[in-house]
Amino acid sequence: MTKNFKIIHREFKTALNKLKYPDSWFWCRYTINPYSGCAHTCIYCDARSQRYYLDQDFENEIIVKTNIDKKLDQRIKRARKLLPDVIGPGGVCDAYQPIEKEVENTLKILKVIAKHKFPMNIATKNKMITRDIDLLNKIAEDTWCTVGFSITTTDEELAQFLEPYSSPPKERLEALKRIKSKAPNIQVGTYFMPIIPFLEDNDENLEDVVKQSKKAGADFILFSPGLTIRDQQAEFFIKKLKNSKYEHIVKPLLNLFEGQMYPPTDYVKKLHPKLLSYCEEYGLPIRQKRWIPNDYRKWNYKISELLLNKEYLDVVKTGKSNNAMKWAGLNLNNLEESIINVYKRGELSKLNNFNKKIVEFVKPYLEKSKELEHKTGLDKYL
Ligand code: SF4
Repeated sequence: MTKNFKIIHREFKTALNKLKYPDSWFWCRYTINPYSGCAHTCIYCDARSQRYYLDQDFENEIIVKTNIDKKLDQRIKRARKLLPDVIGPGGVCDAYQPIEKEVENTLKILKVIAKHKFPMNIATKNKMITRDIDLLNKIAEDTWCTVGFSITTTDEELAQFLEPYSSPPKERLEALKRIKSKAPNIQVGTYFMPIIPFLEDNDENLEDVVKQSKKAGADFILFSPGLTIRDQQAEFFIKKLKNSKYEHIVKPLLNLFEGQMYPPTDYVKKLHPKLLSYCEEYGLPIRQKRWIPNDYRKWNYKISELLLNKEYLDVVKTGKSNNAMKWAGLNLNNLEESIINVYKRGELSKLNNFNKKIVEFVKPYLEKSKELEHKTGLDKYL
């Protein structure tokens, strides 16, 4: 299906946004949005909410960020302290939404990223990404590249209702397969989020998304029940549901959320183990492997990944979070020397949030550091 929308060209002061901490799902340290607004028009899209301060009609006015590639190029060239790290295009838009076909802002950005050998992570619902396989492959060969297809149902009719202008799930899975077979160095997987209660959280759908992802060649699947219900985003979503054949879920959905923005903890605690067991059954990791730099940050990033993955897995398995471990993992990304030096000085306990348990947990990995250095291919990111 195609959609009409107004195109606005606008030049922005900055192209690249640096995050205080990398996000522990996609491992992005920088974000960049080639567009503002998204004509994929997913009815649950959180980018419609006020927290993103978008001053436009989200799906009917698409702002094209002019000269974004030149600004990115200048930013990387001029900033002496800007270390290479994962850039994530998109966020409040899909980098491969329909306008990309003619404007090619994403393609221009990719060329700059490839030129400067920065790693990248990209999430999309559009098969158009296969146009750029060669460039993505070059980035993967030079540094690291991860592509995640957002897929939350294999029911084509339901997907058409929820995500009316994206590629159908079948085509996203075909695109995933194509990328994996043509460019195996690219880490490819499925972003199974958000999972809409009463429409997508049934066992049949949960298993099928995992099963089809595996069949297509996914390296990982990231899942999150993470539907949000807030301000104008909630209004838009509920209105669409009320005017559809899915009207019957409105009441139970609102009852489930009980006026909160996120699904209740008890609900999430029931869903997580199910998803985990399907992923285990089909042999799909539930985290994506991280890009590891070849400078003083190398072991900081490895240990950070280890801590953040363990903390996440404990949440999924037990429902209990470990804030000290989470913050120890996040803070480590900002350490200005190698953790190996800290370890050699016997000062691990001086690192932010490194309590006794965390110190004991990471020590064996640091002791093994010499052996692990010799791994190759994707294994080197273990
Ligand atoms: S593709 Fe992503 S950004 Fe675009 S409307 Fe859908 S959820 Fe929102």
